[in-house]
Amino acid sequence: PTLPARERLVGGDLLVPVGGVPRRYVDLDAAATTSASEAVVRAVQEFLPWYSSVHRGAGAKSRFSSARYEEARESLVRFVGADLATHVALFPRNTTEGLNLLAFRLGLTRDDVVVTTAVEHHANLLPWRRHARLRIVDVARSGTFDVGAVVAALDARPTPRVLAVSGASNVTGWLPELSAIAAAARERGVLVVVDGAQLVPHRPVDMAALGIDALAWSGHKMFAPFGAGCLVVDRRLLVEGEPFLVGGGAVRAVSYDEVVWADPPDRDDAGSPNVVGVVALAAAAEELHATRGASRSHEDVLVRALDEELATVPGLRRLGPAAGDRLPLAAFVIDGMPYGEVAGRLAEEHGIGVRSGCFCAHPYLSRLLALGDDEVARFHADARADRDDRLPGAVRVSCSSATDLADVAILGEAL
Ligand code: PMP
Repeated sequence: PTLPARERLVGGDLLVPVGGVPRRYVDLDAAATTSASEAVVRAVQEFLPWYSSVHRGAGAKSRFSSARYEEARESLVRFVGADLATHVALFPRNTTEGLNLLAFRLGLTRDDVVVTTAVEHHANLLPWRRHARLRIVDVARSGTFDVGAVVAALDARPTPRVLAVSGASNVTGWLPELSAIAAAARERGVLVVVDGAQLVPHRPVDMAALGIDALAWSGHKMFAPFGAGCLVVDRRLLVEGEPFLVGGGAVRAVSYDEVVWADPPDRDDAGSPNVVGVVALAAAAEELHATRGASRSHEDVLVRALDEELATVPGLRRLGPAAGDRLPLAAFVIDGMPYGEVAGRLAEEHGIGVRSGCFCAHPYLSRLLALGDDEVARFHADARADRDDRLPGAVRVSCSSATDLADVAILGEAL
């Protein structure tokens, strides 16, 4: 049950020069960013004539724009199964901004502990490291941890305030047992924050059933353009304190001596918002919701095909757990071939786009590649000396529901 894949993306096939000859581009970098879908482009085109200021004008266009913006806010809360009575959607640019905003807004101090894991993308590590003390749940060589390790971190003293965990890994595609992890945190009164950048595009999320307090994700990984992400968060966490970004729209009254902040969500909506991006994001969510079943079946076919192709390549080792459910992606190393060379030759000799390096997850890569402390220290010394080309890393190929099965075979041939 595969979807009519690429046709869903705007613009159809792209031709790129390979050895001076045009060749169809094979995009296997969906975990980084996906092209916009036709449905998203249509929604944007229909909206563009109405493009106008949100909550800042009395005219019909402004009212219409404001209404579309607020409708999107509601539909995105529902999209991730959150309760409109308790949760609200904010529109940061992306996951990174959403998590920075939240880490700032929780009013953490150096005495607070945040439990996070060795799996995390830097976006779900550095904002917490900036404001609080980290307690890291470590991973095995397979790149996984079990629920018991999270429980132990939650039970250690002092009691943490936040558990910040990824819903799915951008490196291995591994899906932690979110429901058990979130339940353990909630039982202990610890806030549950989920980095949904990879999870949301590939799996339905039910925030209410899971008991998640905040979930951040990006539109550009789910067929919407750059510049609009979402943070769905328990409204109570936004009631106190100054917003992350201050300015017009976030306030009720301003004098030189005093500011009366607006209520959520306006308090966290300073400046003219990206209403076109938000309309696009809501359209992408609607399309994703309507195609979840078919997308999932197709992605499961893709990941099996990927594993079969990779298994035939001599000297290739895939990182992460050997078996079990995962996203349609694979990170790997090949004996004797630098990762940059593999990715570069796939692009130049075959017109295949993949990513290589550390995937903004240095601690995780160090674990997956079993680097010792001395190697990590060298890694930092090289980075300080601006020798980034010496950093350890891997190659990642990643699919979306719009990837053709044939493209996986093309990759196998090329490798
Ligand atoms: N978390 C994960 C798991 C990701 O894969 C990414 C994107 N690579 C991010 C966070 C950050 O997303 P963005 O760059 O859109 O802020």
